[in-house]
Amino acid sequence: MNIILLGPPGAGKGTQARILVEERGMTQLSTGDMLREAKDSGTEMGKIVADVMARGDLVTDEIVIGLIREKLAEGGNGFIFDGFPRTLAQADALAQLLNECGQTLDRVVELRVDDEALVARITARSTCGNCGEVYNDITKPIPADGKCSNCGGTEFKRRADDNEDSLKKRLMEYYKQTSPLIGYYYAKGQHTRVDGLGEIDEVKSAIAEKLDG
Ligand code: AMP
Repeated sequence: MNIILLGPPGAGKGTQARILVEERGMTQLSTGDMLREAKDSGTEMGKIVADVMARGDLVTDEIVIGLIREKLAEGGNGFIFDGFPRTLAQADALAQLLNECGQTLDRVVELRVDDEALVARITARSTCGNCGEVYNDITKPIPADGKCSNCGGTEFKRRADDNEDSLKKRLMEYYKQTSPLIGYYYAKGQHTRVDGLGEIDEVKSAIAEKLDG
């Protein structure tokens, strides 16, 4: 089963994708993670996207479609598309890429969260530098012993673009460019929606109902 987790920054896509990877052996394809890796390792492409990402703008369709094309070419299935597609052009490209490798898109799960909750979540979030486990200062603080509950790592980081200015831009981009995908997938009969505001476990169960129902 190949699925898209759709939702604004801070909706919980990454957190839920990690759970699906752990519990169902699916493969997370996060274009945001791929771009951050390229940036951190200083590749040519990484240098091009660094400023764009820091501002909260979208990277070109060509770059992210290329990244997804490479991953799909490696084979496998059970993909969770996280943060991709973000534009109608990317959605069309994904349909074509899946078709070319004889695969289908089985569900699109929209995580619905109101804007105030997003700002609060994003400005409070950090991740383990070793395994990527996501923490939140309020709802899921870093354990008191300073060690990641998943891997024992002791380095935690906050994303450079998790600040208010960049977040405003990212939210605007979501509403302008990405939210039209809700109608696009609804028209294709693939759209489902869950309330992303609940506890992590509640959201997990709601997603499971959509995937297994
Ligand atoms: P994310 O980790 O999904 O929040 O993505 C972080 C940043 O990477 C975004 O604000 C964009 O600058 C860039 N990015 C990630 N995925 C895409 C995409 N599918 N299309 C365009 N830009 C993207």
